[in-house]
Amino acid sequence: MTAVVVEQAIKQKIPNLLFHINHVTVPEVMVELIDSRDVHVDSYNNQIDAFLGPSHVSVISGSKIYDKFPKDYGRPVVVTGFEPVDAMEGISMIIKQFVEKRCELEVQYKRVVNHDGNLKAQALINTYFEKTSLFKWRGLGNVPDSGLRLRPEFAAFDAEVKYKDVLPMAEIEDHKLCICGDILRGMAKPKECTIFGSACKPSTPIGSCMVSSEGACAAYYKYGNLI
Ligand code: SF4
Repeated sequence: MTAVVVEQAIKQKIPNLLFHINHVTVPEVMVELIDSRDVHVDSYNNQIDAFLGPSHVSVISGSKIYDKFPKDYGRPVVVTGFEPVDAMEGISMIIKQFVEKRCELEVQYKRVVNHDGNLKAQALINTYFEKTSLFKWRGLGNVPDSGLRLRPEFAAFDAEVKYKDVLPMAEIEDHKLCICGDILRGMAKPKECTIFGSACKPSTPIGSCMVSSEGACAAYYKYGNLI
């Protein structure tokens, strides 16, 4: 969507439209979740047995971006829709793979997602964006090659370039009591966080897992009889 707007801004010669890009890519952070060491425990640790691939991303990228996870990392992936029945079927497909001792990439959300994805959209993205060498994720820290930015030839539309002298560049560290990194790696449950539901709740989120309604802490809060 952003790439289309950039293209239209160029075509229509709109001079006062700027973009502050914070788009991210999924496979790199999946590798990080598998490979990285947790900040709180000094040993190799994650408890991720499989992934549910996000359906909205996969509509554009195609399921091909997950090819390497069953092959190279021994983790099954099922690309799954967001509706409750979709999610339940995706989980069921993962469990079936374990029961049948399979490790594969499958698509539950076949009504929209295919292997190659939307090639026109991918071409637009590649025209206007390039990878950043590092992108800082809340809860996980810097993940190489996981962010996008506007290509230098489109710097006239880049708010980071235009306002580089006035934009605050200070990095804000995660709250020291937030254990989102552990939760994202399957190492802890939200209720193990000492400020879950007290200082940190959807109306006053402290970590990334509580900010969005898709986050694990927000879901635990909403469906854990706390409201
Ligand atoms: S409850 Fe809040 S502070 Fe605790 S892990 Fe979740 S997001 Fe972080």
